Amino acid sequence: MDGALEEEIKRLTALGLHRRCAEGALEQVAARTLEINRLKKARKAVICAHVYQTPDIILGVGDLVGDSYKLADDCRKTQAEVIIFCGVHFMAETAKILNPSKKVYVPSKNAGCSLSEAITGEDVRKLKAEHPGLPVVTYINTSAEVKAESDCIVTSANAEKILRKMYEGHEKVIFVPDRFMGANLAKALGKTPGKDIILWKGTCIVHEHFNPELIKVYRQRYPGLSVLAHAECPSELIAAVDFMGGTGDMMRYVESTNAAAYLLVTECGFGELAKLKFPQKNFIAMCRLCPYMKSITLDSVLALLKDPHPEEVTVPAAIAARAKRSIDKMFELAA
Ligand code: SF4
Repeated sequence: MDGALEEEIKRLTALGLHRRCAEGALEQVAARTLEINRLKKARKAVICAHVYQTPDIILGVGDLVGDSYKLADDCRKTQAEVIIFCGVHFMAETAKILNPSKKVYVPSKNAGCSLSEAITGEDVRKLKAEHPGLPVVTYINTSAEVKAESDCIVTSANAEKILRKMYEGHEKVIFVPDRFMGANLAKALGKTPGKDIILWKGTCIVHEHFNPELIKVYRQRYPGLSVLAHAECPSELIAAVDFMGGTGDMMRYVESTNAAAYLLVTECGFGELAKLKFPQKNFIAMCRLCPYMKSITLDSVLALLKDPHPEEVTVPAAIAARAKRSIDKMFELAA
């Protein structure tokens, strides 16, 4: 084994990655992370890693790590010439809109999103025609075309804050595309779906299927359990948990509390990361894998870096300019 590989194994071990690798597997992971990090440097690239990616990507090769809001914000500030987005396509589109002169790539052709695919720009135009004068507040999990038709983008980290500000100037708003998040926000704000907030029918295939009945079972089995759920979960489930938020909020909640155990109701990658970040805390698994997020692997990142002509993420200039206005509005209102 050469010295560089040995050093890389030590680095990954110090990050806690040995705890999730079978015997011998850490050496294979290290060989890949070593090569990816070398090629990344040579290409002047930065790797963005969403918290639903696997820890070998997040900790092994990720430079910018976080939820959708943090990654969009970090992308605005990066000096790198190339952005490799280990997340789903709408996130990479957002990075491209914020960095039109940079090359942006996603290391998978299958990194879609059920929420993003649930609505089109034409759907939003029809909604606006049905409800003239209402502002369109749009979850970031949407295509550039949908963002271009919107007034303001939100993420799970800032949706409640931004909607409160929107209601200062409007009695009613349109919120798309996540009907569960929309209903959860309406409840938090004391608003009524259909009356004060017009919702769309989109859902996240990961968060829509969690069973609220199971939470009762877990609470009986683990006294002192703290239950955290992502805001994309249905309202019946949210009613049974201790904390609802985006992944950044959930991580801060875990960090700042001392429960006997934590049940994290979201995508599995988040729980894996939490276990590595807080090895002294107890985590109970109740998670589902996102097939879109998990279509990215160290091998697909490596293949992209070795490809002389990888397919770039592009957004037509006219759409990008209008989408950027709604994203900038989010940064303004979330500040
Ligand atoms: S977890 Fe849900 S919202 Fe996130 S990328 Fe997957 S399908 Fe989309």
